[in-house]
Formats: sequence, structure tokens, C-alpha cells
Amino acid sequence: MATAPRSETILLTGGGRLCMAQPEASAPPTTLSPWAVLVRDGRFAWVGDPRELPPGARPDATVDLGTALVTPGLVNAHTHPAYAGDRADEAAARLEGKAYDGGGILRTVEATRSTRDETLRARVAERLGAELAAGTTTVECKSGYGLSTAEELRALRLIGEAADELPVRVMRTFLGAHAVPPEAGAAADYARLVADEMIPAVTANRLAEFCDVFCDRGFFSLADAELILTAAAGRDLGIRLHAEQLARTGATELGVRLGAVSVDHLEQLDGAGVAALAAATTVATLLPAPALVLRGGLPPARALLDAGATVALASDANAGTFSGWGAMPLVIGLGATLLGMTVGEALAAATMGGAAALGLGADRGRIAPGLAADLVAWDAEHEGAFALRLGAVGPERIWVGGRDVSPWADPRSPASRAGPPGR
Ligand SMILES: [Zn+2]
Repeated sequence: MATAPRSETILLTGGGRLCMAQPEASAPPTTLSPWAVLVRDGRFAWVGDPRELPPGARPDATVDLGTALVTPGLVNAHTHPAYAGDRADEAAARLEGKAYDGGGILRTVEATRSTRDETLRARVAERLGAELAAGTTTVECKSGYGLSTAEELRALRLIGEAADELPVRVMRTFLGAHAVPPEAGAAADYARLVADEMIPAVTANRLAEFCDVFCDRGFFSLADAELILTAAAGRDLGIRLHAEQLARTGATELGVRLGAVSVDHLEQLDGAGVAALAAATTVATLLPAPALVLRGGLPPARALLDAGATVALASDANAGTFSGWGAMPLVIGLGATLLGMTVGEALAAATMGGAAALGLGADRGRIAPGLAADLVAWDAEHEGAFALRLGAVGPERIWVGGRDVSPWADPRSPASRAGPPGR
């Protein structure tokens, strides 16, 4: 999960573009060229012009990254990796306009419950490996395909075990309120079970940092969500919401009122919701990939940015509405093309914005002294490639916590299959 910091000092340098996201998450990154970065104890120690290197700097090693575009490691603040089964048939049926009764999330719940620990853990590890291979160094991972106390705890435990196998940083989110399981009664009864039984079990076992609720038409009501999130906050879990994806429900305002770190989706958000987020610290996490697949509208990215809200871009990789693992370069491209963001804004939203959406804005998502040295050198020379190549951009080199994990950059390489270097 977390990587051990290196005690040596490394000098990274290049003649290409170093994109440094800004503390204000919505501001596009400033770029430096030529550039140099000193990394010490797993953190950035200094960033600047290579001709102005601090006199005392005596790097143990120097790496020249040539003309490659270099950015902070990407932060994917919304994924659902703990599932089994495949629902590609549902996607095809939906796009053919057929009324579909595939059982949706519950179909995945059934497949996941009947999958052994070892298999499910391997699936999660593969998905996290694909994220890292595509330049994502921090991934938020939700449970939510178990929907019973034992199954939700199992999913969170297996996510943690899978994360320990890889040099990627993982934040876990308990999403017991993803759907109402078939054996439960009404949604309100199940919400009470989530609040009274599942949340205490999750926190007693220290299995998650956040609690999330699918608060939308046909899923959990505002009252259900408030019950669950209040219980979560009372046990020191950070809170986040699936909000305004299918209908404008007011989940955004509920999240703001309860101090949610992020509200996610927002395809149906209106002007009042934009204003609420602009006046709050709650991050607007936008998920263009499932919005594109579902054809149910796009989130108002431009209005949110113009109003001054903090915006994050994430993949929402999951079992049923978008299953692309390692898709963050595509998501940045979609932010810039489909959602009307500039490429700089989209890149900031996938780095600093994602970090802010996980409450980690002071720790990662930027290249600045004191922050974790998570960094990617891309097979591109300008960030415009994320829009121009729409997904066909990949890392050449990756550092996580100052540790070179570049063999993970190519999922086909033998080093990647054998596991992270040095293990
Ligand atoms: Zn989701």
C-alpha cells in the first residue's frame, strides 16, 4: 500500500515540460523547462531551474528524463475494484435501446459473493496494477458488491491485501449503501443496518478511511444517506456521496451540509448545486467515462470551474457502467474534449483535484517541496497529448514515494509480472 521512503537523495532533471499543479486545485499547472527536482526521504525537497541547484545538494543519483513531459502521479479518486463477473452484455443491450432487466449491481453482488478470496484478491490486484501501469499512483477503492456485513468486510480486507502486493497508494471507502440486497426489506431498513452494524464493524477493524452512499433516484434517499453518513462521521470516517447522477435530488447540498470531502458524478447538477459547491470546500468529482457510456448527460464542468469550485476527474471504473482499468489518461482527455475543460485544468483535476477529493491535498497531487515524491514521465512532450491521443498516452517512468517503480509502467514487461522491483 504505502511505499517505504528512500533515505538517499535523487536528482531528477529534464529539458522538457514539468507540469506542477497548483495548491488551488482548479488552477491549471504551471510548467517549468528546463527543470530539476531533488527527492529526499521519499518527498520532494526542492524544485527549480537546474542552474540554480541549492549549493548543499549532493545527490546520490541523477536521472535525466530528456524531453519527456513530467507530471505528478495521477490520483484516481473513485473506483469500485472488488467485483467478479462481467456485464458487457448489459452495456450492449443498453446501447441498443433495449429495456434491460439484468439486475445491474445485484447481478455483480451474486457473482462476487460466490467468488473465493484468492480469486477476488487477484482480480483487485490486476486492476490496481493496470492503474499503476497507466500512471495512477493513488487509487480510491470502494467496497459495495457484498452488501452484507461479512461480505463488505471481506471486500475491504481483500482490497487492503491486494494493495499490499503493489507499490501503489490505496484509500479504502466503505460503500455498503451501494444498492439494497435482495434479502433486505426496504431501503430504509437496510440503511439502518449499514449505520448500526456495518459501520461499527468497519471502523473496529480499521478497514476504511471513507464512507460513501449511492444517494439517487431508485437507490438511497436523502434521509437514508444522512443516517448513514452521520453514523460514519461519528466514527471518524471521511464522507463522500454518489450524487445527482440519475436525478437532481439535493444530494450535493446534503454533502456540503454534512462536510463531505467530495460529491461524485453530478450529471444532473443545476445552477443552485454549482453555487453550493462553489461556496464549499467539498470537491466536485466528475466521472466522464461512465457518463459517456450511459448517454445520460454530462456534468457541468465548465460552470463548476468558472464558479470557483474545486474539481476532480476520476474514472469510476466499476462492474457495470464503465470497466476500463488504467483509464486515467483517457479520463483527462475526456475532461478536455467532452467536458470543455482546458487540458491544464483536466490534468490538475486528475492530480491535485483527486488528492483534494481524498483529503490529501497537502500530501500529494503536486510537485512541490514537502509533498510525497509521486511522479510520472510520459511518452509525450506536451500535456496536449492527453486530448490529442485520447487514452493512448502512457508512462515511461514512474516514481512512488521517491522509489523508482518504472517496471510497472509496462504491464507486458517481465519485471511487472514478477512484482515490484526490490521485492
Ligand atoms: Zn461509483
